[in-house]
Amino acid sequence: MPVVAQTEVLVIGGGPAGVGAAVAAARNGAKSMLVERYPYLGGLASGGMVLVIDDMMDGPRQTVLGLGQEYVERLERIGGAVYPPVEDRYRPDEALWNKWSRWGSYDIYWHGALKPITYAVAFDPDAWIRVSNDLIKESGVSLRLHSWFSEAVVEDRKIKGVIVETPEGRQAILASIVIDTSGDAAVAWRAGVPVEEGGYIVSLVHRYGDVDTERAIRFEQEHPKEAYALNREAKRILGGSWEYWWLLTPRPGIIWCNCPHLQGFSAISVEDLTRAEFEARSRIEACYAFARSNIPGFEKSYLLDTAPQIGVRQGRLLQGDYIVTAEDIKEARWFPDSVARGRDYFTPYRSLLPKGVEQLLVAGRCYSATSAAQKISREIGPCVVMGEAAGTAAALALSANQLVRNLDVKTLQQQLRRQGGDPGEEPAPPKPKNNELSDGFSMASAGVLNTGQE
Ligand SMILES: Cc1cc2nc3c(=O)[nH]c(=O)nc-3n(C[C@H](O)[C@H](O)[C@H](O)COP(=O)(O)OP(=O)(O)OC[C@H]3O[C@@H](n4cnc5c(N)ncnc54)[C@H](O)[C@@H]3O)c2cc1C
Repeated sequence: MPVVAQTEVLVIGGGPAGVGAAVAAARNGAKSMLVERYPYLGGLASGGMVLVIDDMMDGPRQTVLGLGQEYVERLERIGGAVYPPVEDRYRPDEALWNKWSRWGSYDIYWHGALKPITYAVAFDPDAWIRVSNDLIKESGVSLRLHSWFSEAVVEDRKIKGVIVETPEGRQAILASIVIDTSGDAAVAWRAGVPVEEGGYIVSLVHRYGDVDTERAIRFEQEHPKEAYALNREAKRILGGSWEYWWLLTPRPGIIWCNCPHLQGFSAISVEDLTRAEFEARSRIEACYAFARSNIPGFEKSYLLDTAPQIGVRQGRLLQGDYIVTAEDIKEARWFPDSVARGRDYFTPYRSLLPKGVEQLLVAGRCYSATSAAQKISREIGPCVVMGEAAGTAAALALSANQLVRNLDVKTLQQQLRRQGGDPGEEPAPPKPKNNELSDGFSMASAGVLNTGQE
């Protein structure tokens, strides 16, 4: 088998976490390579058409910074992002709700009646690919698309590289450190470290074109009862969706539908995924027919596209040195080795470290967590910064000539801060648990998925 490359840091999977990891490793001086099975970068944020970056704030304070924030700024520069300005956030105001909720920019974990507007960013999937490409090119990461990871090369309990399936046949790539950002812990699983199969709803996200969105929103505001009945019927046909079954996008007249909710399909079973694709399409077509004939604003619409890849929220999960629990997330528990944030919760470095194999890190939605914890801690922004932490850790371990497991976490935290990130300070006084729009704000008290959008 040809060895086509040898690198210091090898990242498998070019989604939000993978790009974060590869770019951070390169920026910190490591020879970094990124491998992706599909012909484009972005993972679920492009190919899955998941089009809102959530969970960037701890109430009124932004917690996802670093590369997470850099993505937003770069998306905005190319006209690919829309989000509420600071002055519109966390104020109990119905006018602000009417202005922003259809962008998906509201706090989905809020218990009260009027959910506050938050910093959540609606973006365009092609813009996400362009920004990912720019980040990769500018930081000098070597990229191999069309390369499907299939096997891990492990010797003496140390990962040495991987085998990929490509249009040219099987190829080997050797590396000093491998970072698994495949979303489903593909590398960790093949390397033989403990992983667990999780499970959650899957969705085939899709978009409509030529929707008169102003008319549709006006109708909902002027005729709430009729609109409620029509939307309820649309959601029944879909077999489940979040509170809103469609949301606005930065492209006029184009809406995205973060649905249908498909229950009971394993995200790592070929047969289940095949069935899910067909089941989703028939529900989507039925809902479209209903919407076009019945909902004001949808008369001239057409089904623009369905996401190239089915939306898997949870597949295999690493069971690493520390397994994050739902209580850790709900109680916003701080860890001394915290290296990344999401909302008000903290991600410990140990949850990126597998048991039993050295020089392997895992980041993104397959990090080490229970199924219940991952459901509420896997949004796009937090995955980018988890990847950034893993890539930075890999580069620091290389320059210190250490195993990634033995890396001094304080040094990593300092470097993440220097990069503009927020690895997570120990919270000063314990937060009161109430739902007031004030300093007493706490999302930790919510902690369960409700009728929001994610
Ligand atoms: C339907 C749906 C709705 C969601 N809604 C929201 C939302 O509104 N807001 C939000 O912030 N988050 C949302 N999420 C969550 C979010 O999209 C993901 O958790 C996040 O994208 C995970 O990033 P990741 O990089 O860990 O994984 P992924 O985005 O899954 O990326 C993994 C990458 O690895 C590649 N890969 C996998 N296996 C291999 C292999 N064998 N060889 C090579 N490459 C491989 C994949 O092709 C992909 O590019 C949603 C998710 C879904 C499915």
